[in-house]
Amino acid sequence: MDVLVVGGAGYIGSHAVTQLIDKGYEVTVVDNLLTGHREAVHPEANFVLADIRDKEVLSQVFEARNFVCVFHFAASSLVGESVEQPLKYFDNNVTGMISLLEVMVDHGVNKIIFSSTAAVYGDVDIPMINEDLPTNPVNPYGLSKRMMEQIMEWCQEAYGMNYISLRYFNVAGALEGGNIGEDHHPETHLIPIILQVANNQREYVTIFGDDYHTPDGTCIRDYIHVVDLIDAHIKAYEYLNDGGQSQVFNLGSSQGFSVKEIVEACRQVTDCCIPAQIGERREGDPAKLVASSDKAREILGWQPQYDDIKKIIASAWAWHQTRPEGYGEE
Ligand code: UDP
Repeated sequence: MDVLVVGGAGYIGSHAVTQLIDKGYEVTVVDNLLTGHREAVHPEANFVLADIRDKEVLSQVFEARNFVCVFHFAASSLVGESVEQPLKYFDNNVTGMISLLEVMVDHGVNKIIFSSTAAVYGDVDIPMINEDLPTNPVNPYGLSKRMMEQIMEWCQEAYGMNYISLRYFNVAGALEGGNIGEDHHPETHLIPIILQVANNQREYVTIFGDDYHTPDGTCIRDYIHVVDLIDAHIKAYEYLNDGGQSQVFNLGSSQGFSVKEIVEACRQVTDCCIPAQIGERREGDPAKLVASSDKAREILGWQPQYDDIKKIIASAWAWHQTRPEGYGEE
């Protein structure tokens, strides 16, 4: 069972590689290491340093192996950056997807599991988002991911390309004892930023706005453990392999936590006081994003193991304590 993981050196991709190898898959990784880390890639994976827009190298990789499926994590993913540099996002994300699908079609590989995002829904104000909600991305990042989904839909019609698109909510945590975890430069995500305060790498965390229309005034998000997230990817491949239909699924925990609640949970897990200050709202932040994951549970038989936010934070904390500087300079 030979699979390709593009973007396998990133935070989420490296968890996919490790969990696929643990399940007995033969894994090849293609990553350009612009944001990923070579050290994050499991030593048993075949590693190819390449950009997925390089069709020549990609074709060579496909010729050398007999892939049954591609797991796609190779995309730029910062909302703010995408607003400042939209062309970078359309090029890396959309052009990258076209290049990958062309090579897949040329080599008769007809299954792809795609890392999508809740950002395809845009700025919505409903208690629980399910997959029927019309998409309305409000930034180039979300739009690029929606375009990638649409490209896959048409490739399904034209070439029989089977796809599952997994729309992530807030991914957090780390594989316990796995020596891999989150290491972004710059770090923008809430939980790693708070844990950097606990690790004495920052003085305080800034809470971006406390005047939202939520019970404590801070934004509510749905946090899902990265190991559960990857488990859904593997189930999605198995589903396609059993003849399941191409479609999209939300991946979240169906529970919402406010920024203040996350800060408090981190204080309890780390036993540190973690100073927090209220700052301005961050542009583009919706008040509340919580997923209904019923569809993934019902159709994929997905059963997330981490239903306690403190356990998710504790697994991230273990990683940040072991590797306070992350993977270091490479
Ligand atoms: N957030 C915050 N301070 C920070 C980073 C994030 O208050 O330093 C808030 C952010 O406004 C959002 C939530 O935490 O409401 C989660 O943000 P993150 O960037 O982790 O994920 P996003 O929801 O943007 O994908």
